[in-house]
Amino acid sequence: RYKGLLAMMISLPACKQAQSLLNFPGGLQMDQFIPWRQKDKVVIVVGATGSGKSRLSIDLATRFNAEIVNSDKMQVYKGLDIVTNKVKEVECRGIPHHLLGVIDPDVDFTSDDFVRHASRAVDSIMRKGRLPIIAGGSNSYIKALVNDDTEFQSNYECCFLWVDVAMAILHSFVSKRVDQMVDVGLIDEAREFFDLDANYTQGIKRAIGLPEMDEFFRNESVVDDETRARLLKAAIYKIKENTCKLASRQHQNILGLQNQLKWNMHHLDATEAFLKRGVEADEAWKMVVEGPSTEIVGCFLND
Ligand code: ATP
Repeated sequence: RYKGLLAMMISLPACKQAQSLLNFPGGLQMDQFIPWRQKDKVVIVVGATGSGKSRLSIDLATRFNAEIVNSDKMQVYKGLDIVTNKVKEVECRGIPHHLLGVIDPDVDFTSDDFVRHASRAVDSIMRKGRLPIIAGGSNSYIKALVNDDTEFQSNYECCFLWVDVAMAILHSFVSKRVDQMVDVGLIDEAREFFDLDANYTQGIKRAIGLPEMDEFFRNESVVDDETRARLLKAAIYKIKENTCKLASRQHQNILGLQNQLKWNMHHLDATEAFLKRGVEADEAWKMVVEGPSTEIVGCFLND
């Protein structure tokens, strides 16, 4: 009992070395005497745009009683659900999502804002006895939270899952996704955000899909049909090109987190699932992404 008491007294970070000098009987660990020193656990899902982060985080959330904190720079804003490719309600399978479509589209939501909001969301999920899963493509947000915020570092232990897809396959996937977005209303949605003095360096206006459509919206009502069709085709081509560039840049940034910051990422290669269609694709996803991730997170939580 006295050792437990002593351990409590020296549990401050400054006394870390002293803790390691304590010799507990029967192989007992420090954390067993002072349970609050054990860090809470958080899962972080990273990956380039289109790689399947949302799908994986929802798969995991249904298994581990979790809630999801969005870390996509553009999806935090209200509006542009198609352009920013927000997860649809039916795809959420009842899993609560935080920081998704809640920020005023005109304000600049900074990394500091993300750290504050995300920490609050993670805390509230913890208080419900659930597992927080942070998922999204914005690596600068994730880095600010995990690497630069000392409070987060001292409170949480992270398990990183990286959903990766061979870049050529991902480029072809996100290009087709743009066509699908156009089919379900991307152009009308983007038009609502168009104005003649638009500033594409602020808030949601930075989203890929708005600056690219600018020339088309400026001219669509004053040009002939042929020119109109040409301008639209050029805009869609540019959206595809910029989405592919974003995917490549995000991939490089994740490599940086792994190689320079030495984050221990669990790499999940989802390429096989992207090469198949229908039921076969779903089976491949389970085999190469969902199954291994479930095992990794299970071990992490039981550790
Ligand atoms: P960077 O330092 O390049 O901003 P980051 O990791 O902070 O990188 P990313 O998520 O890679 O942030 O976003 C970079 C840019 O890509 C955004 O400013 C925006 O133009 C575009 N973008 C990101 N996510 C989306 C999205 N969901 N929809 C449309 N455009 C997006």
